[in-house]
Amino acid sequence: MATKPGISNGARQSRLFTKTRREAPADEVAKNAQLLIRAGYVHKEMAGVYDYLPLGLRTLNKIIGIIREEMNAIGGEEVLLTTLQDPEAWKKTGRWDDKVVDVWFKTHLKNGSELGLGNTHEEALTALMTEQISSYKDLPRYVYQFQSKFRNEARAKSGIMRAREFIMKDLYSFSKDAASHNEFYEKVAHAYENIFARAGIGEKTYRTFASGGSFSKYSHEYQTLCEAGEDTIYIDEAKRLAVNKEVHGDPEVYETSGINKAGLKEAKAIEVGNIFTLGTRFSDALGLVYKDAEGKATSVFMGSYGIGPGRLMGTIVELMADEKGLVWPETVAPFAVHLVSLGKENDEISKTADALYEDLSKAGVEVLYDDRDLRAGEKFAESDLLGIPKRIVVGKEAATSGAFEVVDRKTGEVVKKTRAELLAR
Ligand code: ATP
Ligand code: MG
Repeated sequence: MATKPGISNGARQSRLFTKTRREAPADEVAKNAQLLIRAGYVHKEMAGVYDYLPLGLRTLNKIIGIIREEMNAIGGEEVLLTTLQDPEAWKKTGRWDDKVVDVWFKTHLKNGSELGLGNTHEEALTALMTEQISSYKDLPRYVYQFQSKFRNEARAKSGIMRAREFIMKDLYSFSKDAASHNEFYEKVAHAYENIFARAGIGEKTYRTFASGGSFSKYSHEYQTLCEAGEDTIYIDEAKRLAVNKEVHGDPEVYETSGINKAGLKEAKAIEVGNIFTLGTRFSDALGLVYKDAEGKATSVFMGSYGIGPGRLMGTIVELMADEKGLVWPETVAPFAVHLVSLGKENDEISKTADALYEDLSKAGVEVLYDDRDLRAGEKFAESDLLGIPKRIVVGKEAATSGAFEVVDRKTGEVVKKTRAELLAR
């Protein structure tokens, strides 16, 4: 089976440089960061600043892969814009001022002129598109990226869910009018539902009416029910919709959404994504216009759509981890299988495990192979902490009878399988 370019199927744990630890840093309060640090998925540099290590990066890349597939499926074209921001574009939209955008990180060139580190990319991309869009024939366009954002967040208590540097998937739509924009907006909403379902949080995630900002009265957030969430929402379970507390007091939101204010349930939630109608706010400010069929110059109608893959990863941890450690859904787990050998160097058990490792990797199964010489109890505790969905244990019995114990991380269920059955999956 062909492997995915750049992603190896197998890895030996003896060659993994990361170590697990019993304790998370004392100053880390978020469950997601505590567990991810203990399991060696991420490293904390300072408050709100995290590095992704091999296992963490594999999971982050799985999440990014799911999002990318769904963005491509609705016609997204992927780019990668620079983080460095020219103040000129931001001055035109009125967002260079720290009083308007309170999360800016700014810096200077050697010659003294100012630069910004991007916290979002409406300005840069809209300015760029003025060179690409001139006629109604150039529309619509849907452009997205996975790109590092910098935000001087005031509070950094939610681990990787609120970082000061984080990768965002940001998609921007360029349409000729509100009607074609609305059509695409609903397509993005549907793609987002697919993403959250594939990442295993679909059932707990609600499309939520929130404040809209510049153009439309409301935007939509995707809010995942979780006690660790920073937001409060009011949910209508039957309609699968919710209203953010910030607009809950506004009677109009209930007319617009069709949600009945009576009988709503208040809940804590994490904003994993959002979708915005921008209208012509940015295209007007930056001169992004097209000529319609009659040759009349018209402002491009825009939308923006964000998801934080790291925040999504943290949300999965918050929702699924148990008292033993991380628990990943198969779709985002760094490996599908944790192969744990209980053998010593060169004994029958290790030889059996080595052979199974080679076979599984060749068959395209992503397998982390614990080939180290450690106590069984220590290996199992570490395996539980890492949260890989299936554990295959190679002990004496497997080496002699050929029956391998397969343990489900989530349910603890144990089944016995032969080598042929394992490779057939
Ligand atoms: P919040 O209200 O939680 O600060 P936001 O309204 O600032 O979020 P956007 O600017 O729209 O969020 O960003 C789009 C997405 O990026 C969010 O839905 C979230 O998933 C993610 N995101 C935002 N801020 C952070 C952060 N500091 N760390 C990690 N992910 C983030
Ligand atoms: Mg924010």
